[in-house]
Amino acid sequence: TDVSALILSRIRDVPDYPKPGVLFKDITPLLADHDAFSVVVDELAAGLEVDKVVGIEARGFILAAPVAYRCGAGFVPVRKKGKLPAETLSASYDLEYGSAVIEVHRDAFGPGDRVLIVDDVLATGGTALAAVELIRGAGAEVVGVSVLLELAFLKGRSRLSDVDLRSLVVV
Ligand code: 5GP
Repeated sequence: TDVSALILSRIRDVPDYPKPGVLFKDITPLLADHDAFSVVVDELAAGLEVDKVVGIEARGFILAAPVAYRCGAGFVPVRKKGKLPAETLSASYDLEYGSAVIEVHRDAFGPGDRVLIVDDVLATGGTALAAVELIRGAGAEVVGVSVLLELAFLKGRSRLSDVDLRSLVVV
């Protein structure tokens, strides 16, 4: 479609970043283009009734904040370990080497809050899955996970089988 063509035209492939053999999808050209950025925010927000939009550090913040505004919802940051100042809940997930921990404020959600999780790219799905567990553990309802770009060859979708996963573009 026109929308996916516009989005794809504003994503730059950077070979060997952050390490040799990885082809990194750089969304900064998209963010710098008002037309593309607005279409993305509108599409990510379309038809959703939610109480909170969660952004995953760091590129997720850039998309989730305007999506929250657009949905009439609040914004909640999910951050890497040690970055949030008040009491937190945490979830860990495996990386290729070792593991990582993400956190959210313990009081970020009200009971039964409807929550949308937003990130830029779904790769293996490990980050999104940890965010889903974190938010459910905080007593909120995960209404969906929405990403700008899904890298299908990494099969992240299969790890999120009990979640409504929406991708604006799949490559
Ligand atoms: P996953 O946990 O699904 O393997 O990786 C997804 C996370 O890593 C997301 O937070 C995303 O921002 C980041 N990520 C992984 N690969 C890419 C990429 O090629 N481009 C961008 N922009 N982010 C990536």
